[in-house]
This record gives sequence, C-alpha cells and structure tokens, in this order.
Amino acid sequence: MAGIYIHIPFCTQRCSYCDFYREISSDNKKIDAFVQVLIHEIKLRKDELNGESIQTIYFGGGTASVLNSNQFRLIFDILHQYFTICSDAEITLEANPDDLTNAYLDSLSPLPINRLSIGIQTFNDKHLRELNRRHNAAQAYDAVVNARKYGFKNISIDLIYALPGQNINDWEQQLDAALQLQVEHISAYGLTYEEGTALWHHRNEGRVRETDDETSIIMFNRLRAKMKENGYEAYEISNYAKPGFRSTHNSAYWKFIPYLGFGPSAHSFDGKSRQWNVSSVQQYIKQIRNHQSFFEKEILSEQDFYNDYIMIALRTSEGIDTNYLHERFGQELLDYCMQNAASHLATKDLIMSGHCLSLSNTGIHIANIIIMNLMKV
Ligand code: SF4
Repeated sequence: MAGIYIHIPFCTQRCSYCDFYREISSDNKKIDAFVQVLIHEIKLRKDELNGESIQTIYFGGGTASVLNSNQFRLIFDILHQYFTICSDAEITLEANPDDLTNAYLDSLSPLPINRLSIGIQTFNDKHLRELNRRHNAAQAYDAVVNARKYGFKNISIDLIYALPGQNINDWEQQLDAALQLQVEHISAYGLTYEEGTALWHHRNEGRVRETDDETSIIMFNRLRAKMKENGYEAYEISNYAKPGFRSTHNSAYWKFIPYLGFGPSAHSFDGKSRQWNVSSVQQYIKQIRNHQSFFEKEILSEQDFYNDYIMIALRTSEGIDTNYLHERFGQELLDYCMQNAASHLATKDLIMSGHCLSLSNTGIHIANIIIMNLMKV
C-alpha cells in the first residue's frame, strides 16, 4: 500500500499568516504549462513505488482548487495509466471555500475525488479579512452545503484559533458554527506568527495583538471538550474525526507507509529515504524540461527513523507503542526513550497505558518539549 501527494503551488491571494511555498497566480496558461510538467514528472517516477497499490491520493497546495476539471482529468488519466489505484482509495482535494461553487462542483462530479478538505479557518468576517483570506463566512457555509448537494460524504474543514484579538467566546462561536455543519473531520490549529509573513510584521508594528498562552490553552481545551461531546475522536493533536473518518492519507504518513510526492516542494518517502523536489515552480519546470535533477534526497539512519517515530507517534491518541519501539529499534533505544520519559511520567504529563506511552491532558500543552526530550540528538 502507498500514497500519492500532488502539490499544486498556486494561490490567487497571499494569506497574511502563510509561509508555505506557493506562487500568486491565476493565469490558466501558466497552470496548464505546470500540469504538463507535472504529468512528465509522474511518468518519470512511475516505477518508484515498485507496483504498490495506491490507497490514497491527496491534492494539496497552495490551492489545489485552482485546477479546473480538464486539468484534473489529465492528471487522473496519467495516474491510472501508471499506477494501480485501489477501488476504495481515499482521494482528497484541498479547496478554498469560494472555489466550491455549484458550477465547479458539477464539473468535478465525473472525477474520482471523494473527500474535500476545505480551508475555512474561521466564520468571522473580520478575522477572515485580517488573515487576507479570499472568502467570507457566507461562502464558507455555502461550500459545505454545495459539497453535500454534489454527494460528498467525507468533508474535512480547517479552523484556526488564537487569532489576533480573538476571545474565548468568539472561538466557542466558531466551534458551534463548525459543528452545525456536521462535517466528518475537523483540523484545528493555533495561529503561529511565521517570520516574514504580513501578520508577523503587523504584530511587530503593534497593529495586531498576539493571543496570550493562557487564553490559547483555554481555547485548545474548549476545542477538545466540544469535539468529544459531539462524537469526534481526537486522533491527533490537531485532528478530530467522526468514527471511521480519520484521514487515511495523514495516518499513512504516521505509519511510515511509502508515498510519492509530485510537484514543486513535494516530499516523498520510500521506506528508506526522504526526497524533496525543488521549491520554485520556475526551477521545477526548467529542470524537468531540461532533464536535470529536480530533487534532493537523504538516506534515513536508524536514529532518524527513531526520531520521526517519536515525533509523529506522540502526537497521536495511541502514542508511542513500546512493543513496536523494541521490535523496530531494539532494547537500547527503548531504554533511552523510557529513561527520558521517566520525569514526565512522574509529573503525569505522560501516561503509560498497557504498552503505550501517550500525552496526558496536561502533557499535550508541552508536547513539543516532551518530544524534544525523547528524541535522540
Ligand atoms: S490559500 Fe493556503 S497556501 Fe495559499 S496563501 Fe493562503 S494559506 Fe497559504
């Protein structure tokens, strides 16, 4: 089993908090040219998964919903030609709410996309403007309603909390609005001020005020409580799913299942090494067209695998499986992990349940510190 990630590096507007790699463009000719090169990359790398069948395909970005149905069709044709895609594969499209019009969804309906991940972020129009998002609250609601109308039974929405000047009451209202939509999956992240972004400058100039840690923690606790009350499992620190609706694609990353990443800045993993494509669209197009190398690669050491496992597993509800740790990495690394976990077990920030070591309700707030302590440097 394996996954495919396809990075669509275009956005039509720059969100004020975003430091992801993307180009600001809505030029369809430019996107057409990119799709042709992407198809070429898929052909070049068709044998890298050694015939493993594809369980998940994820179109992310950037804004994957800048692609039109013809461009998607070309990509699916080539994927079907070179890979065995499982009949029940999870095929996700990351979409901006204002792209999910009836006309667009209608054009997508012959395609095999069966999951939408909609970047709503908040239903508060003032905050949406501050974040320089393209959509407004009404478009956010309509996106989900329209998607249901066109038969989507697996919808995820993204939310951001700790927005500038946001109070707990506003965050509760956002959660209630999200819950009313009865989507199958919710991802919720605390806002971070990434260096160089517009929002980072606004904060430094005193134009917006960062939410204090205490309020952020209360917001996170409300989020978890509301998700639980409404039947969502907190299967990862930032991800909540109705039973049976965990993201198979993301869970595969967490289980070290191989995946191929196509497009600029996309990462791949083959079970032994990590590979990442050049970040610039121009370089990506030029290097592939000129038959030049367009990626870098590193072979992972046992220590890299151990650190990746600690970093990923501790963020999940299952936590670190110490039996797996022993089986995969041996007694020495298991001892290392347990010795470093001892102080966190004593303070009850970590819990040992059977053979699994996981974060407690207090530990979750210092997850990064605990992860750093358990990693081997
Ligand atoms: S749509 Fe997403 S990738 Fe594009 S600028 Fe906004 S946050 Fe960044």
